[in-house]
Amino acid sequence: MTIDLSDEYIQQIESDRREFASKYTREFISTMTIEQYAMGAGDKDNFCYRIEVEQKEMGNIRGVVKGVQRYGVWYSKKLGGYEFTHRYGDTPQEAFLSVRSLICNVMDAGEIDDYTAIRNNKIAALFKYKLLAMYFPHKYLTIYSTSHLSYFCDKVGIPAVDGDDELVMQRKLLQWKETQDEARDMSLIKFSRYLYKVFDHPPKRGWNNKPRHRLKKLKEELRDFDAKHPKKTLTEIEVTQRSAKVAAYVKERAAGVCELCGKPAPFYNKSGEPYLECHHIVWIAREGADEITNAVALCPNCHRKMHSLDEPTDVEKLKRVARK
Ligand SMILES: [Zn+2]
Ligand SMILES: [Zn+2]
Repeated sequence: MTIDLSDEYIQQIESDRREFASKYTREFISTMTIEQYAMGAGDKDNFCYRIEVEQKEMGNIRGVVKGVQRYGVWYSKKLGGYEFTHRYGDTPQEAFLSVRSLICNVMDAGEIDDYTAIRNNKIAALFKYKLLAMYFPHKYLTIYSTSHLSYFCDKVGIPAVDGDDELVMQRKLLQWKETQDEARDMSLIKFSRYLYKVFDHPPKRGWNNKPRHRLKKLKEELRDFDAKHPKKTLTEIEVTQRSAKVAAYVKERAAGVCELCGKPAPFYNKSGEPYLECHHIVWIAREGADEITNAVALCPNCHRKMHSLDEPTDVEKLKRVARK
């Protein structure tokens, strides 16, 4: 498959995207009907058909799952009515209304870079990331599958690590883009296609998403350490070793996003780890405990802020995060 990167072609994709986004505005979606939304009846004038088929060049989301699982509701000609996904509601209409509000939530979260809200949104992943790229094409890539994203991260030398989700991997690729003379000025639509052109598609096997087991493992390591070294008898070296384990745990828990401002880590190091700093909510200097319930991972800005202001509202917020 050849990938067209010509300006004319990219402009065509961009203008088709704009047309979609200006028809399906946030306001329109908030009052959209199930007929205007669902696909399957054979007509093309609905949200799902347009985003999946008409906007194919904005990234494929036709995975292995059935359409009804992707979109929550689907018109079945065979049944002569709507099929729906039960986790969104007990009737087609109820499921549709939940999905509709989830779509609005994704749009709101994308607008303000609320990564936590994006992560917690229960809409199907491929659909969710395509929505973000459709509405915020200057911030999100048109590559949505975890296996493709981790493949490209590996190729560009900022490998994905266990627990990286789509957001983190997209950010890694964006960081690489900034370092590339050829790619730096490309729109993200073009850049996404450029990655396929340069590195090709990932092989069918071997790029599966890894399970997120690191967090659990890090917690167990800390527990094992404490079992072997009673806290009262720790040597200076052991205190440092233990501290590193606490820091590793909270950074993993943060999943690449500052636990205070919710913004992504400013950069990734060579081994693909997001750069965040470990901070103790009650400072060690004030007798705070070196425990995961008193430690958070912060971006350098927020870390400075905590040390110069230590605002009670921030402290409260961080305490809630750490206690989770
Ligand atoms: Zn921050
Ligand atoms: Zn600190």
